[in-house]
Amino acid sequence: MEMEKEHRSSHPRLVLVALPFQGHINPMLQLGSILHSKGFSITVLHTAFNSPIPSNYPEFGFVSIPDNLSEQLISADDLLPFISLLNLNCGVPFQECLAKMVQKQEVENEPSIACIVYDECMYFCDAVAKYVKLPSIVLRTTSASTYLSRNAILQLKAEGVLTSQGSTSQDLVPGLHPLRFKDLPVSKIGTPEIFLQFITNIYKTRTSSAIIWNTNDVLEQPSLQEIQKQCQVGIFPVGPLHEVAPASSSLIKEDNSCITWLEKQKQNTVLYVSLGSVASVDKKELGEMAWGLANSKQPFLWVIRPGSVDDQEWKKLSTEGFVEAVGENGCIVKWAPQKEVLAHGAVGGFWTHCGWNSTLESISKGVPMICKPCFGDQRVNARHVSQVWRIGIQLENMCERGEVERAIKRLMVDKEGKEMRQRAKNLKERIQLDIREGGSSYNYLNKLIELIMSF
Ligand code: UDP
Repeated sequence: MEMEKEHRSSHPRLVLVALPFQGHINPMLQLGSILHSKGFSITVLHTAFNSPIPSNYPEFGFVSIPDNLSEQLISADDLLPFISLLNLNCGVPFQECLAKMVQKQEVENEPSIACIVYDECMYFCDAVAKYVKLPSIVLRTTSASTYLSRNAILQLKAEGVLTSQGSTSQDLVPGLHPLRFKDLPVSKIGTPEIFLQFITNIYKTRTSSAIIWNTNDVLEQPSLQEIQKQCQVGIFPVGPLHEVAPASSSLIKEDNSCITWLEKQKQNTVLYVSLGSVASVDKKELGEMAWGLANSKQPFLWVIRPGSVDDQEWKKLSTEGFVEAVGENGCIVKWAPQKEVLAHGAVGGFWTHCGWNSTLESISKGVPMICKPCFGDQRVNARHVSQVWRIGIQLENMCERGEVERAIKRLMVDKEGKEMRQRAKNLKERIQLDIREGGSSYNYLNKLIELIMSF
């Protein structure tokens, strides 16, 4: 699955529609890059909210569609109602835009649109595709296990086993080993109806011709096999997409000064700390996290994204002497070039919220993790990191500085951590083989291209 350009006499066009959040824009544009390298023209239809930066992908066409959404910082608490609003608002303008594109291609003899590829959360695209008489394909950006666990939630709720508030039980969920009830990605936000509606909307069998999945057989073969049994259309686990499409699609400017700082650190010594693009740290946890890091004496690179911590609390840490205590041992940035950071030899561990992209990026660079999931599918991913692939430690409870310090030592210094690093490196190698010629992701990609060409 190398990024070589393949020249075809006629290049069909693909229209891509991502959910406008970093963790969804990245895999969609990565998929676009891969398919572009295989000869397809790519047009990205996007909302004005969180619009991607076209100059990062000069080979793509970008069309902005009015979304009637105001620019605002969306927190995890607003996500589901926001997605619902997005689906309500976007259908008509997207449909008008696509109808014009189809008309134009007929009149001006432009490359014809082969299909629409849309993020599972942009489910309004199904009706739009049907209206303009184009095939569509869904991209799922979470793990296959997350899909199965969301399905289990629907079933457990229907059976009355699970309440809308989820469960704190340590018991294993039948058929979902090693997930416990407390790991299920139940939303505690909004009404249960909003959450159930959300799952139903993203999983409803519509008219799509296939499902692309940013995962692969090396990581999730049993779950993928189970899903394929349940699905009426083919599934194509072609991930991890970022491994074959290196361009950045960051919405926030990456601070490359941290790479210069990493250059000065010893091999495998730095703990990289980032909670992705949406999760935040509460006031109490911020202090515990900061002092746990400082007291560990382990070098760290910490991403403090604007809006992810309380400003007053952060200032308080400075007055308490946190910055002096850390000195040259810590580097703090607003946003990092994460893939480059994880690929750097100095980085020996990743404290992550276990968003699916971060998890995949860490695994494919052979970096073991400290998992501190915040919400949704992150708990499912964390459980797989610690219990299935055994390449990380999960912080189960509310962070306390002593516990943080111990976890850092376990991962970065102790024999246990060295073994996790070795397993992570083995997994990385298997993934590298999987995306090369003959590997399952490579083969699925070729089958996907055959399918699109047959439309
Ligand atoms: N990311 C980045 N720089 C940072 C923090 C995160 O480029 O400083 C990227 C990261 O590489 C990943 C994405 O942001 O691709 C976050 O996606 P993920 O699924 O891990 O979490 P989410 O943000 O969706 O919770």
